[in-house]
Amino acid sequence: MRATRAGWSERVALVPTMGALHEGHLALVSAARAQANRVVVSIFVNPTQFGDPGDLAAYPRTLETDLDMLGRAGVDAVFLPSVAEMYPAGDETIVETTRLAQAFHGAVRPGHFRGVATVVCKLLNIVRPDVALFGEKDYQQLAVIRRMVRDLHIDAEIAGVPTLRAPDGLALSSRNARLGTEDRVAAVVLSRALDAAQTMARGATAEALADIVRDVIATEPRARLTGLDIVDAATFEAITGALPARAGIMLSAEVGGVLLIDQREVP
Ligand code: AMP
Repeated sequence: MRATRAGWSERVALVPTMGALHEGHLALVSAARAQANRVVVSIFVNPTQFGDPGDLAAYPRTLETDLDMLGRAGVDAVFLPSVAEMYPAGDETIVETTRLAQAFHGAVRPGHFRGVATVVCKLLNIVRPDVALFGEKDYQQLAVIRRMVRDLHIDAEIAGVPTLRAPDGLALSSRNARLGTEDRVAAVVLSRALDAAQTMARGATAEALADIVRDVIATEPRARLTGLDIVDAATFEAITGALPARAGIMLSAEVGGVLLIDQREVP
């Protein structure tokens, strides 16, 4: 990867993924194409960001189709490192955004954002892209990466890409493949809850927004709310009372045993 990259003098974009690619990933690739001359996609199912070994084992792996999709999308390189390459024997260095990693989704997934920050730091050091692109769906992840890159003076631009959704509103995710037919229908409740909150966001308080989201999720017996936070989109601090100029609603819910997340910036 280093040798390939060293041969490029043009602007380089990196799209980090864990594979099991779908149209949402391809939206990142198109955005990368629009911003750079060379596009690298990495596929690496990062063990350090999974708390539960069962969740890691169950993570979908579809390398053949992934490579087909990326071939058709015309990317310049696909980087497929092994776990042993990314985490050399005896490694002891981690990267952690101390506050952001523990807040919100991090509180229910201890160690998750430390794993994300560590692996993305490694990928940025290997590929040395001018720009790296991440989905807004993983809203806290995007905030963690922006903070890490700023704090560590990493010389890469970080770009967020809007969430691509199925026609019924469900955010596309590799995890959706694990939903049974009825759970797939039920999963639309996440985006419905965010739509409802967005409709009444102007002039509302954070508490009122949270109530609406909770009420809509409660209408779907197959869904269980696992996380709901309203943050200032500029600082990523939790907010109460009146909303700031831009607020982010971060939602996670379990549907049929599958953890799904979604987010919305309001108003
Ligand atoms: P993952 O393979 O799930 O780690 O995702 C790789 C990248 O794709 C992350 O930056 C995600 O935020 C992004 N991504 C995943 N799903 C979507 C989507 N539906 N729309 C846009 N970006 C997405």
